[in-house]
Amino acid sequence: MTTVTTATSQRVQLDEHAADELATTLRGELVRPGGGAYEQRRRVWNGSIDRHPALIARCAGVADVIAAVRFARTRGLGVAVRGGGHSFPGYSVCDGGLVIDLSPMKGIRVDPEAGTARAQAGVLIGELDRETQAFGLAVPAGIVTHTGVAGLTLGGGMGWLMRKYGLTIDQLRSVDVITADGDLVKASATENVDLFWGVRGGGGNFGIVTEFEFQLNPLGPVVLGGPIYWPMAESPKLLRFYRDWIADAPDELMTMVVHRRAPAVSFVPPELHGQLVVSVAACYAGSVEDGEKVLRPLREFGSPVLDLCEPKPFVVHQSMFDPIFPHGWWYYFRACDVAELTDEVIDITVEHATRIRSPLTAFPIWHLGGAMARVGEDETVFNGRAAGHTFNISAATETADGFDEEREWVRTFWSALAPFHTSVYVNFLMDEGNDRIRQAYGPAKYDRLAALKRRYDPGNFFRLNQNIPPV
Ligand SMILES: Cc1cc2nc3c(=O)[nH]c(=O)nc-3n(C[C@H](O)[C@H](O)[C@H](O)COP(=O)(O)OP(=O)(O)OC[C@H]3O[C@@H](n4cnc5c(N)ncnc54)[C@H](O)[C@@H]3O)c2cc1C
Repeated sequence: MTTVTTATSQRVQLDEHAADELATTLRGELVRPGGGAYEQRRRVWNGSIDRHPALIARCAGVADVIAAVRFARTRGLGVAVRGGGHSFPGYSVCDGGLVIDLSPMKGIRVDPEAGTARAQAGVLIGELDRETQAFGLAVPAGIVTHTGVAGLTLGGGMGWLMRKYGLTIDQLRSVDVITADGDLVKASATENVDLFWGVRGGGGNFGIVTEFEFQLNPLGPVVLGGPIYWPMAESPKLLRFYRDWIADAPDELMTMVVHRRAPAVSFVPPELHGQLVVSVAACYAGSVEDGEKVLRPLREFGSPVLDLCEPKPFVVHQSMFDPIFPHGWWYYFRACDVAELTDEVIDITVEHATRIRSPLTAFPIWHLGGAMARVGEDETVFNGRAAGHTFNISAATETADGFDEEREWVRTFWSALAPFHTSVYVNFLMDEGNDRIRQAYGPAKYDRLAALKRRYDPGNFFRLNQNIPPV
């Protein structure tokens, strides 16, 4: 007998025969406690999350997903659904229940003539980029290649191409979904239109998406991109210059400001390692020549200590931040959108940036707008398209050592910005409670989502997520 946790958090005994039966039904592997495979598979990206599921169903295909859902449903088991495992609060692993692990589902099919790509639920951003860039095409997605396409898309999907081509959901054409009953439902602009609206920002609340179909866009394959660094002391002036300079930025240009201690990596000279710096990382999704012209005023501002902005394959640019967000470190994260970088917002930012202790902490401020802001607020669930910037106030330590202090720095900084918060992106929430989820969607969309949840998941089977309980 194995002790398992039900969807309503009760502890019950599960007959070993039942687990054996699931194991034989699956084409993929069923991982149970004990042994190296279990230790490896229960871990998610955020090392501060330490949960012990009773079973991990490594799904090889749609039939495995259906079997896992029905197995958990029949026995009232709690479930976690895992794509890339990058949920900041660790929603893709549970204590005592069943993890439906989609990471083995790696199918990708690019149709260059139709300009579309299909990706299964275990595909990571870097894997999708590699396949699409072989044809000079791209789906706008995130900025770290080891993030899952599934979780990212279901929340919205922000990245280097969003000002040019919109969010990931703006390029989504259809999804295949396994519902809480274990049935396959398709959703698109012409089929189950309400569900299609709900999956474009509503997360995993309505079912398990097994496959995504995206519209593709021309890109590169070479882009002008990379960070330019200044000493932190130049941050107040730089941020004011930056605010004016981006006011006229073309859609091709996406930038983010990052404050941190310079990382001890090979492309940063040793004398800068550990020094407080401010950088602007850029990606120009147009011709390199045009990008050089647009970026010149920024590169000539003040006294940069390092300029790594250069022409490079988009896939190389995409992996730029991978080494600073590795698996297993301890991360804490709070986010907010602001309308603009006012003098007050800049002063608060600089004040807290100069207090960064951990050499691993780096917080990006994203520039929004462009194509993502031209899609109507009601067309998708994603909220906050009109915001000017998103703050990712994130802190990292290698282990538990120093984590509490860094977390406190994040909370204090986030609270200081509270008078300027406009909205928040649901994929950038921690475990912050239902009021924050409601805030993230706004009351009208939240109520519509709750009604949709009642239709597709009235028992709240899919509850380990930024949860919208059914009305
Ligand atoms: C290092 C890092 C970089 C990031 N960069 C960006 C970025 O550039 N842009 C951006 O927009 N976001 C970014 N994010 C946030 C990211 O979008 C979310 O963390 C997202 O949920 C990750 O998806 P995943 O599949 O890796 O996560 P998982 O932890 O596997 O899943 C996250 C949530 O989605 C649900 N879910 C996963 N797969 C499915 C599925 N197939 N069907 C139904 N529900 C599912 C899970 O149950 C869970 O609730 C980043 C996160 C990290 C950690």
